[in-house]
Amino acid sequence: MSPFHTASDEEIKRGETTDIYFVRTKKILDAKKLDKIQVVADVTASGLPEDWQWGILCGIEEEAKLFEGIPVDVYTMPEGTIFTPEDIHGFRVPVITIEGKYGPFCLFETPMLGLVCQASGVATQAARVRKAAGEKTLMSFGIRRMHPALSPMLDRATYIGGFDAVSSLSGAKAIGTEPTGTMPHALIVMFGDQVKAWKAFDEIVEKNVPRVALVDTYFDEKIEAMMAANALGKRLVGVRLDTPSSRRGNLAEIVKEVRWELDLRGFKHVKIFVSGGLNEETVKTLSDAGAEGFGVGTNVSNAPTIDFAMDIIEKQGKPCAKRGKIGGKKQVWRCSKCLIDILQPYKQHRPRCPKCGGKTTPMLQPLIENGKIVAKLPKPKEIRSYVLEQLEKVQLEKS
Ligand SMILES: [Zn+2]
Repeated sequence: MSPFHTASDEEIKRGETTDIYFVRTKKILDAKKLDKIQVVADVTASGLPEDWQWGILCGIEEEAKLFEGIPVDVYTMPEGTIFTPEDIHGFRVPVITIEGKYGPFCLFETPMLGLVCQASGVATQAARVRKAAGEKTLMSFGIRRMHPALSPMLDRATYIGGFDAVSSLSGAKAIGTEPTGTMPHALIVMFGDQVKAWKAFDEIVEKNVPRVALVDTYFDEKIEAMMAANALGKRLVGVRLDTPSSRRGNLAEIVKEVRWELDLRGFKHVKIFVSGGLNEETVKTLSDAGAEGFGVGTNVSNAPTIDFAMDIIEKQGKPCAKRGKIGGKKQVWRCSKCLIDILQPYKQHRPRCPKCGGKTTPMLQPLIENGKIVAKLPKPKEIRSYVLEQLEKVQLEKS
């Protein structure tokens, strides 16, 4: 057992993070020799949380690692795909399809769902904040609200959703980048003097780290911003406002005021960053007020999960879906220009886009063939670019 309340990689790979009813199902199927029956199972979302109009599929690289060595075929939409639960005709769209003898993968339904449900929720919320922030800088500050074992996954999903940088060492490592951050109140409090703390940061920290002074510790944000600008001059890249909620008042007004006063004194180069309890609405408002960067935390790391479910929909080549699900192996065809999906039985020919008449592409692509990873797993940076490209075609609100 880990000293922390987390399962090890080996425990997850052995199926020990599953629900007991799958263990019992496997035992019964083994005993009755039903475990080798060939099935196809679809992973679909019945809806999306809150008023989300779309989701971002995330967690596929981990699915590849989970299914590696299990004798099944797995087809998935590419990681970072924007999806809606239903196609243009209202049919529920699979984002993952698993094909093989049921016995060997029976235990893995639980961890398989957990990997995509949470990461997709986080990536989607991150993409919503990205949409609200336009081109402004977004930093992931949310790992402190979640179990530390999850920080690489959370920061990776946040980055994939469109954030520019992450604060955690482990998240940055997972992404293949350097972690980003400013300074905590603890540093200022330890010096008991803002200017001494900012100057010490400037003296000690590597020169390539941008100098961003935290300016809300003891005095008014405007006063401290001027103090920081006077203390560090040209080397000051930005000021960060992390005003406590009890003192917040109208933060957009404060941002505007700080901007005005900085500009008036010739500190136009000093950017304003804001953090603390931000979400897609406040990011939009503060961005309009003149803030140029945001540290967003809990709103993204604690994003709602997307409720994906797995259902067996074909058995020995014959459709067998339960009530409420549709049977048979399927393919999802997408017009990437219109972002329209058409669900069809697997063997039907490629449809044309019903809107533009253009070519569609099959979205469920091989990830695993008989336990071997066959897909090229893209780097987080490539997945992020794919997300940003699709984000231009969708809106936050229902149109
Ligand atoms: Zn089209």
